[in-house]
Amino acid sequence: MYKAPRGTSDILPEEQAYWRYVEDKAIALCTLYGYQRLETPVFEDFHLFVRSIGEETDIVTKEMYTFKDKGGKKLTLRPEGTAPVCRAYLEHGLYNLPQPVKLYYLATIFRYERPQAGRYRQHHQFGFEAIGDGDPALDAEVIDMTRQFYSTLGLTQFSFKLNSIGCWLCRPEYVKALKEYYSRHISSLCPDCQTRLERNPLRLLDCKKLACLNLAELAPKSIEYLCPKCQSHFDKVQEYLVVLELPFQLDHKLVRGLDYYTRTVFEVQPQTEAGAQTALGGGGRYDDLIEELGGKPTPAVGFAAGLERIITNLVKQGISPPTLPRATVFIAHVGSETEKEAIKIASKLRQAGIPVIAAVGDRSLKAQLRQANSLDCHYAIIIGTEELKTQVVTLRDLLSGEQKAVAITHLQVLLSQDKG
Ligand code: AMP
Repeated sequence: MYKAPRGTSDILPEEQAYWRYVEDKAIALCTLYGYQRLETPVFEDFHLFVRSIGEETDIVTKEMYTFKDKGGKKLTLRPEGTAPVCRAYLEHGLYNLPQPVKLYYLATIFRYERPQAGRYRQHHQFGFEAIGDGDPALDAEVIDMTRQFYSTLGLTQFSFKLNSIGCWLCRPEYVKALKEYYSRHISSLCPDCQTRLERNPLRLLDCKKLACLNLAELAPKSIEYLCPKCQSHFDKVQEYLVVLELPFQLDHKLVRGLDYYTRTVFEVQPQTEAGAQTALGGGGRYDDLIEELGGKPTPAVGFAAGLERIITNLVKQGISPPTLPRATVFIAHVGSETEKEAIKIASKLRQAGIPVIAAVGDRSLKAQLRQANSLDCHYAIIIGTEELKTQVVTLRDLLSGEQKAVAITHLQVLLSQDKG
């Protein structure tokens, strides 16, 4: 027997209501904030991700699904959503539109990670990006939009962590201070961090190993090294969040796992559990990324949330999505000629917008009605040989058990009045 690959899962019919609920809320939110949908391919040029996410990140060094296609081109299954959006922004000349351009995506994401609760090899993200303006008001708007997203889903127990990691101008000083600090403690670092220290010391702050976590606690803070422009930007973001009555906690260890971030970074945590695997979503500014990918200097800010973790939290908080519409009418028959009539009636009713399931095969009437009940149909239309002759069928209300004789010509009108 084949199984779904480790770290992936099927989304079964009974789970679909949650997915539909979250996706509908995401789409409605984007309309509310003026974001338009963008869909990018599931795979992209390998170098796009290396360039954007950074060579020393866990994603690039350990987690990407990379392969050569039959033409020998090196491709990677999308391990995050921002780089493809920026690639599309450049490829389609979206910089010619009034800025900022506001885009969102619902996308499948692939990362070769060690599967555990809330961490999968294939997961889904909802993300939105505002590209083309550096105003700190936009950072605040993106954070506010994030709050609105979780609130409209009905989630209540979540909080915001905020940090600024500066820019190309002030970050080198900070990185130097980090290097000095960690060099003094190098023997206590995990082997990965010992090698990262030389090439990308910022990554040490988000290492989840216990020894590294403790060291990170006392490490120098990026907000103490901000240049005047980054400082003023960060002050304004915080001011606007206060205006928006949006509480947040400063967290100097928050650097996010991707190298393209500049200035503002933020993360959303469910309040009930602290810890590495639980972030509901995260985002920040990436003012240099578009230029890095060959465009003009173009500031941008965005956010992404993992849908699986949202759904886990909805279940935990007892939030049930609306049930999805299902077929309301089941057509049962006794075979041969009556089946022909069943097919005809089913097609006519569906053309009138009435959702119908028609029995197939040669099961007994009793078995067919059992199936109608298990499919939660409201009505069963029963066609026997007598009904075929008279063109008057039995319409049974499966909820009340009542039944009546109805002329085939009247079925559509009758059922249209009662589509639910
Ligand atoms: P990131 O791009 O790593 O910041 O991820 C954005 C969001 O996606 C995280 O906050 C999580 O909610 C979710 N996420 C990231 N990686 C995984 C994963 N391996 N499995 C499930 N959800 C994930």
